[in-house]
Amino acid sequence: MADKFDVIVIGAGPGGYVAAIRAAQMGLKTACVEKWIGKEGKVVHGGTCLNVGCIPSKALLEASHKFVEAKHDFDDLGIQAGDVSMDVKKMMARKDKIVKNLTGGISGLFKANGVTAIEGTGKVASAKQVEVTDQDGKATTYEADSIVVAAGSVPVEIPPTPLQEGLVVDSTGALEFQETPKRLGVIGAGIIGLELGSVWNRLGSEVTVLEAMDNFLPMVDGAVAKETQKLLKKQGLDIKLNARVTGSEVKGEEVVVKYADADGDQEMTFDKLIVCVGRKPYTKGVIADGVGVDTDERGFIHVDDQCRTSVPGVYAIGDCVRGPMLAHKASEEGIMVADIIAGHKAEMNYDAIPNVIYTFPEVAWVGMTEQDAKAAGIEVKVGAFPFAASGRAMANNATEGMARIIADAETDRVLGVHIVGQHAGEMIAQGVIALEFGSSAEDLALTCYAHPTMSEAVHEAALAVEGHAIHMANRKKKK
Ligand SMILES: Cc1cc2nc3c(=O)[nH]c(=O)nc-3n(C[C@H](O)[C@H](O)[C@H](O)COP(=O)(O)OP(=O)(O)OC[C@H]3O[C@@H](n4cnc5c(N)ncnc54)[C@H](O)[C@@H]3O)c2cc1C
Repeated sequence: MADKFDVIVIGAGPGGYVAAIRAAQMGLKTACVEKWIGKEGKVVHGGTCLNVGCIPSKALLEASHKFVEAKHDFDDLGIQAGDVSMDVKKMMARKDKIVKNLTGGISGLFKANGVTAIEGTGKVASAKQVEVTDQDGKATTYEADSIVVAAGSVPVEIPPTPLQEGLVVDSTGALEFQETPKRLGVIGAGIIGLELGSVWNRLGSEVTVLEAMDNFLPMVDGAVAKETQKLLKKQGLDIKLNARVTGSEVKGEEVVVKYADADGDQEMTFDKLIVCVGRKPYTKGVIADGVGVDTDERGFIHVDDQCRTSVPGVYAIGDCVRGPMLAHKASEEGIMVADIIAGHKAEMNYDAIPNVIYTFPEVAWVGMTEQDAKAAGIEVKVGAFPFAASGRAMANNATEGMARIIADAETDRVLGVHIVGQHAGEMIAQGVIALEFGSSAEDLALTCYAHPTMSEAVHEAALAVEGHAIHMANRKKKK
């Protein structure tokens, strides 16, 4: 008879491993099942985020950004770096080392917290049973009082561009190029497409991004999206909007992509093509027929605000349920669910989940955009401050971008914070805290910010909500 647990978590991505560690910390006997086989042929923890997502992409973004700085920007600072070149294989080896350290670290955290790591493919066999099939095909059934499904997501493939190893790839393949492609096509101008396109653009690829929508980053504040589009174009990313890919053909070492835009049918030839058109939940086969856990037609598991499925005692979190596909959203859900299972009251504020695009400069936002507020019939006041007027931004040689604060015109409550600028991903935490604590723009304006910092732009934007920014001329408010 296999072990019985208080909680079994299926999946050790940032949703699952965090849920498992928290549950163990709450005194629950916890196991976490994982099937991901790493580069060394062994099961690894960390899911998409650590293996092929957040971390490896950021390792490449950081390295390629430093390369651009050394090659093009150091001169502005008076530094003569000589002939700067990039060793792509070494950059990739560094990325792999970071991934190995972090994924190994999760196993260490499991041991330290007393989580039992089970290797194999887990399936919810009943409301109280998880069946795990190991690499040799041997199935074992474990009993559990509660089950958390954290099975994550996988890239979406589209019929016009079937993947072909090394040539037409998804985001995972794009993290493995061993040399810089001369002509790179990216399908999809979403967060992942723009980040991966930026990496290779910085290293010298001619990058064309084909996006079917005619609206650039529709989920981002309009002014921030416009500025971002301008800055990425200046860096050399050729972003073609309203370009719907209709087909592709691999010809030897090249791929010819057909697309339709306002001028009719077009064709472009690339040395590599990255397909980044979104991700879909990875739930096929994770729940046995007849258990009664409801999913929708796209495979998302139905959950309530506290991640309870339609079957009592079975929870689902992260990319396999509704909401943004983000590692920190998955982790927060993991903590919430573990606390609920341990008998505590817990909830999550889905209105205060930050988003970051790790291009340069970074784009980060939380809460409502001006367009969201207008659509909801909320009258808003907006304060904006450009980094061009920030002393620290000048010292950093990073004067591009702005911070914008959207506040309720009647109550002054902060509804959204939107930043495009160096370190925007770090700065956005203050917007999250403002939303979490229900602060007003005046609260931020009355807060003392360290000088000189990039964050002062957020302070100035808060002051600008009432037309009181200090370090720029304020626009006259309409009476
Ligand atoms: C290129 C890229 C860059 C990204 N960058 C960011 C970023 O900067 N910031 C951010 O917040 N998000 C980013 N994301 C998204 C982020 O990686 C995901 O939102 C996050 O990993 C979701 O966590 P999760 O735990 O729900 O699922 P996953 O991380 O997908 O983990 C699910 C785990 O479950 C395992 N599993 C599935 N089914 C079973 C089964 N039956 N039995 C056992 N194990 C199973 C899988 O093997 C996997 O390890 C990025 C994604 C990509 C692809």
